[in-house]
Amino acid sequence: MAERNLALLSVVTPMLDEEGTARTFYERVRAALDGLEWELVVVDDGSTDATPQILVELAEADPRLKLLTLSRNFGHQTAITAGLDHARGDAVVMIDADLQDPPELIPSMVEHWRAGSDVVYATRTAREGETPFKLATARWFYRLMGKLSDVPLQQDAGDFRLMDRVALDALLAMRERNRYIRGMTAWVGFTQTALPYRRDARHAGETKYPLRKMVRFALDAIASFSNIPLQLATLAGFACAALAFLAIPVAIVFRLAGEFVPGVTTTVIAVLLLGGIQLMAIGVIGEYVGRIYDEVKRRPLYVVRDRVNVVAAEDERERTPAW
Ligand code: UDP
Ligand code: MG
Repeated sequence: MAERNLALLSVVTPMLDEEGTARTFYERVRAALDGLEWELVVVDDGSTDATPQILVELAEADPRLKLLTLSRNFGHQTAITAGLDHARGDAVVMIDADLQDPPELIPSMVEHWRAGSDVVYATRTAREGETPFKLATARWFYRLMGKLSDVPLQQDAGDFRLMDRVALDALLAMRERNRYIRGMTAWVGFTQTALPYRRDARHAGETKYPLRKMVRFALDAIASFSNIPLQLATLAGFACAALAFLAIPVAIVFRLAGEFVPGVTTTVIAVLLLGGIQLMAIGVIGEYVGRIYDEVKRRPLYVVRDRVNVVAAEDERERTPAW
């Protein structure tokens, strides 16, 4: 295959309250991409600190920095989507702003792309500066996702990846609201290559993923890539029904043998057990129904308040098709 020619590389970054990192991040990207034609699309996801001012200042000094300000906090995955919608490159990299993902890795990603790979995702061989809790939950999460998901997902890969324009357009055609981007990039297929790297500690500030958001993220991921929880509810139902059927002859035998089953305790246990399982099953169904409701409302994924150095993606609105 002939080497691909890179006319423009887009780097897309979501930022929420990254005043301690924004400037350093920009400097490191600029240094790392020296010699390439590039644009840096930064999405300000409703920051309430000095991040917007810093970004406006940087964008006014360098037209390669495209700034998109959302009207409020829409969340990491949606902010990335907003950036991807506005990226114009032949190849597009998504990267976190906190410098946990080193921008210096981007040129090697580009090399893999030139050699014909459509999706180059960075896998973490080590993660610095994370709490044991985060490491453990992340490991369980990826293992569980691996078992549940309908498409093979990559282990230990975050959102840090490069995508070819064709693969990206396939990704952007998916306008679902519950977005699990790393799963969606696996779903589109094409040639995927892993690129191992060490994940650094956060440059400054704190994680923007408190436990609440992590749980939400995990539930979104599972619900958008697996229907197995729904099937588990059915299985639990069958298991209970089977138990009940087994219990009937047992009770009859006891009755005929003249042994009275006092009954109260067993009844209470059975009621609680069944009630619990039913509530759980309803809860699981509720998670899916809630997401269906979210999807059918067909709201736009995000609202842009301001743009610097960037024109509106021509189809920002049309990209959420009417039914
Ligand atoms: N982020 C965002 N909106 C959010 C949460 C996070 O744009 O609601 C950005 C954040 O600024 C960072 C990236 O998403 O650039 C990843 O977040 P973070 O580093 O806090 O997550 P972690 O690495 O701890 O999982
Ligand atoms: Mg981080």
